[in-house]
Amino acid sequence: MNILVVEDDPSVRTLVKAVLEHNGNEVSTAETAADGQSKAIENAYDMIVLDLGLPDGDGYEVCKNIRDENVATPVLILSGEQETDVKVKCLKVGADDYLTKPFNTEELIARMEAIKRRTAASGDQTLTCGELKVDLLNREFMINTEKVQLTNNEFNLLVYFLKNRNRVITQEELAEKVWDIHFDTQTNYINVYISYLRKKIREHTETDYIETVRKKGFTFRCDG
Ligand code: CA
Repeated sequence: MNILVVEDDPSVRTLVKAVLEHNGNEVSTAETAADGQSKAIENAYDMIVLDLGLPDGDGYEVCKNIRDENVATPVLILSGEQETDVKVKCLKVGADDYLTKPFNTEELIARMEAIKRRTAASGDQTLTCGELKVDLLNREFMINTEKVQLTNNEFNLLVYFLKNRNRVITQEELAEKVWDIHFDTQTNYINVYISYLRKKIREHTETDYIETVRKKGFTFRCDG
């Protein structure tokens, strides 16, 4: 999974990051409410681990704000507060679970696995386009029955294309939405990733899904 950890305490942040990475996840971190919130809104994470007490705000606000922005990513809140009303408040602002500090790292992993199973059961976590199939939860890409290995950047690019199929997408839009960078001299950067993705798709199928629209950008063609 691709996980965002929002935690200002360096020892907890380092520990959680190390444990999650050890379990095969990719981990991004944020130390403030503002940074955590903007990362959660701008990037497609599979799960967010959110501390309640942050230097510039609290986890409730972050959770509520990202839900208001239609971010459905599961949220696990971490906090030293043990009171029942705190837990209730977390769930009410849209968090999926709550873990009290100090916690056992095995319990953290077990709770995250449980959230993952629940979300997998409740929502459609796949994107398809004819013979192409993307499993958002496990971040897997299949063409027919073959699994295609993608890097994180290629995967995020593909997901953006699938969610915005059959329309022209400019390089500026890709730079901003997929990479969160502002368009200046990065044209080649985007083109390189598109060529990697295109090449990987073409190794498994005759269809060229990514159409280059001259002087405008790209269209991901999908009729299925
Ligand atoms: Ca804290």
